Amino acid sequence: MFDILLEVTNSLIVAAILYTLLRGIKHPDVRNQPGTRLVVIGFGLLFFSLLIDITDNFPELNYLVVVGDTKFQAFLEKVAGMLFGLFFLALGLNRWIPSIHKLASTRSSLEQQVKKRTMDLEHVNKRLLAEVTERQQAQKQLEHQATRDTLTGLPNRYALTEFLEREISRASRRNYFSAVLFLDLDNFKSTNDLLGHEAGDRVLKTVSDRLGLFGRKEDFFGRLGGDEFVLVLTELDGCLQVAAEQAQTIAQKLISALDEPILMSGHKLNVSGCIGIKLFPDSQKKTVGELLKQADMAMYHAKSNGPGVASFFCDDMQKLVEQRLNLAKELQEAMEQEQFYLHYQPQVTIDDQVFGVEALLRWNHPTRGMVGPDEFIPVAEEAGLINKLGRYVLHHALSEWSKFLADGVWEGGMKVAVNISPSHFLQADFVDQIEHIVCSYDLTGCHLVLEITEGVVIQDIADVSAKMEALRRLGIGISLDDFGTGYSSLAYIKRLPLDSLKIDRSFVRDIHIDPNDAAIVDAILAMTASLEIEVIAEGVETEAQRNFLRRRGCNFYQGYLFSRPATLADLVEKGVFEQTVEYPAV
Ligand code: C2E
Ligand code: CA
Ligand code: CA
Repeated sequence: MFDILLEVTNSLIVAAILYTLLRGIKHPDVRNQPGTRLVVIGFGLLFFSLLIDITDNFPELNYLVVVGDTKFQAFLEKVAGMLFGLFFLALGLNRWIPSIHKLASTRSSLEQQVKKRTMDLEHVNKRLLAEVTERQQAQKQLEHQATRDTLTGLPNRYALTEFLEREISRASRRNYFSAVLFLDLDNFKSTNDLLGHEAGDRVLKTVSDRLGLFGRKEDFFGRLGGDEFVLVLTELDGCLQVAAEQAQTIAQKLISALDEPILMSGHKLNVSGCIGIKLFPDSQKKTVGELLKQADMAMYHAKSNGPGVASFFCDDMQKLVEQRLNLAKELQEAMEQEQFYLHYQPQVTIDDQVFGVEALLRWNHPTRGMVGPDEFIPVAEEAGLINKLGRYVLHHALSEWSKFLADGVWEGGMKVAVNISPSHFLQADFVDQIEHIVCSYDLTGCHLVLEITEGVVIQDIADVSAKMEALRRLGIGISLDDFGTGYSSLAYIKRLPLDSLKIDRSFVRDIHIDPNDAAIVDAILAMTASLEIEVIAEGVETEAQRNFLRRRGCNFYQGYLFSRPATLADLVEKGVFEQTVEYPAV
């Protein structure tokens, strides 16, 4: 029974194989394999011999498979079937195996190719990814460079324009005011010219660090270029008045932040700046360009009251700026057409003896008549005409002075004081210029005093003091004008070879009424007494002022009380120079 089961199982297995083969043979890949047919025949014969085996136990099935009748014939058929079957199978497999082998190796090489391609693709992918990131980074950097200032790292004009465009519409949509604070440093050009660009860069960086602390995160702080910075304050109050006060407070803080001197190779450099404020939105919708222009105008207006002043833009300013531009053009012509002349104002001692005069420039404008220096000197400074104008005044003053001296109008010993603008004094060849001008007249330097302002003194003290020493060697006196209005400290005054110091007329005006002014004058007099510097009080208009000054120990005066400025000829005619005395020596 077991035999039968085994044989049936064998036959079923072989039949299953045969069946699978026959089905598989339909597939072109199998059918086209060399040896497939031989394998099928081999299995067919094996199946056949197995069937014969089965008929051993079921002779009634003999008719199905046994060709012969006897058991021997059946045995022979079985053996022959098996042998042939095995033979064909071996033959078939012999052809199959190499092709299977080939198939396997093709497959593995394909697999390898796929692997290699995948790796290649991964590599390409990685490179692509790296390239994309690199590009993105380059793009970012380009954007950064396009919107950032390289020196300070602050956003630049381009970024400001973008910010303001958004902010203008945001502010009008959300009903609040914003403000553009346009800051320009005072005398930065001189710092740059005098101390070099490296020092200039350091100043700009320090300033940007200090001012950067004031904006909130929704505000904008950037550098427009040069010494111009802009802070845009956003989301101020919805009431114009309150918003203006808020902007003013911040502007004041910015100005104070610059107060602390900057240490520059052992020297303290004083920095200050003026701010123009423009609030927006306003009734007429402004473009970014217009906003910035108005903030810039306000800044120029602040400069005229500066240093260290903040001004709001108002419509009158537009007219003022236009007038100034015209004035700058006309100034140039005025010099060519000799429209300038000089007034002189005597400087007197305690006994009304004249020891010198101050030359004050006047412009006889062809249509406007007399234009005062307070109006046109700042314009000449802005327009870069001040140095030329300064030389013009020196020539004029010395030429008139030498003429009157030669005519014997007064005894020798008096001096003529000429006002010098800071930018003129800071020119590298200033001393040579002065020497050259003095030598062109029949005079020595002993007739000349240069009045300089604190704007000069706050610059590089070593250079300023070297220039002053050189001027002194030529016999030229140095007077510090408008003292008390600027920033010069006692430390500066001590280190400079000054001959005299002029107390600003703003302190003299209320000296006998305002105890603060009196205290300042007292302090100046006490300080200079130990330094051997003469003090001249300017703007003395009344006896009360003079008496007060005299009691405090100030012995030299200038002002309307003694004489208004006038031409030399007028002064001579009035007999101003009847009693003269030598310029006080120190
Ligand atoms: P400053 O150097 O302080 O000149 C004195 C100013 O005070 C003059 O004004 C003079 O007329 C005025 N003054 C004199 N006495 C009195 C007085 O008793 N009371 C009052 N209230 N004022 C008095 P001015 O001539 O209008 O000059 C104004 C400023 O213009 C000068 O101030 C000076 O800074 C500048 N300036 C004048 N001429 C020149 C110049 O040739 N070159 C330069 N760079 N600046 C000049
Ligand atoms: Ca003066
Ligand atoms: Ca003065």
